[in-house]
Amino acid sequence: MTNDNVEQIVLVTGGGRGIGKACAQAFAKSGVKVAICDLSLEAVEETASELGSNVKGYAADVTDREAVDALFKRIENDLGPVNVLVNNAGINRDALVMRMKDADWESVIRVNLNSAFYCCRAAVRGMMKQRWGRIVNMSSIIGLRGQAGQTNYAASKAGLIGFSKSLAQEFASRNITVNVVCPGYIKTSMTDELSEEQRSAIVDRVPLGRVGAPEEVADLVRFLASPNASYITGAVIPIDGGLAM
Ligand code: NAD
Repeated sequence: MTNDNVEQIVLVTGGGRGIGKACAQAFAKSGVKVAICDLSLEAVEETASELGSNVKGYAADVTDREAVDALFKRIENDLGPVNVLVNNAGINRDALVMRMKDADWESVIRVNLNSAFYCCRAAVRGMMKQRWGRIVNMSSIIGLRGQAGQTNYAASKAGLIGFSKSLAQEFASRNITVNVVCPGYIKTSMTDELSEEQRSAIVDRVPLGRVGAPEEVADLVRFLASPNASYITGAVIPIDGGLAM
């Protein structure tokens, strides 16, 4: 039994802007209830009101286990138990390893990897009860290929892949799928930090010859939560214009 008629309650972490915001928008357009969380209440509420009445904003730091547990309880009270979880919150703190500060290593692992563990653990109980759940973890092609100057980011994103494949095996029998999306170079605030030179050097290596849009990643995420993807779990899907080929 696939139970794909269940009412979706979506949580997108780091949904205040960028790829997370585009994911929230894609889900909201399809008429389901969406919670977004981000660090600033003001910013996340502004995004939620921009995206319409299906979207509710919450302030939560996903590196804080207690805050995550409290967030899931609040969403359950307000909208219902989360059964589609998009672990999207992420940061980078780039430096060559010899110059990397402990704080840069630890904060990237905490935001990009520990948060996914906290959120998945909080979500699966409700998903198991419904015998239906969809988890999409936002990795990166850097997690597949590595990148000089990004050892912390690459380790966190590669860790997310191993975590997701293991989780997919733990929960497959409960009809909970866990998949990983690996964006390449997508136009957001994260990549706006790159210089024009860095940007064109990357684009030159992209077979499709352009940067990606957050909406293109969002369409893939929404697909993975849809009935059309009910037989896909443990998959690691690049969305990168062919860059990681
Ligand atoms: P972004 O910086 O525009 O958005 C990330 C959001 O996460 C921000 O709103 C930020 O406030 C939020 N966030 C950060 N730390 C948080 C925390 N502790 N708790 C809650 N929210 C927090 O970045 P983006 O480009 O939209 O990236 C989204 C995800 O996609 C990240 O995981 C990133 O690693 C991944 N990604 C992005 C690209 C790209 O090219 N933009 C490529 C590959 C992977």
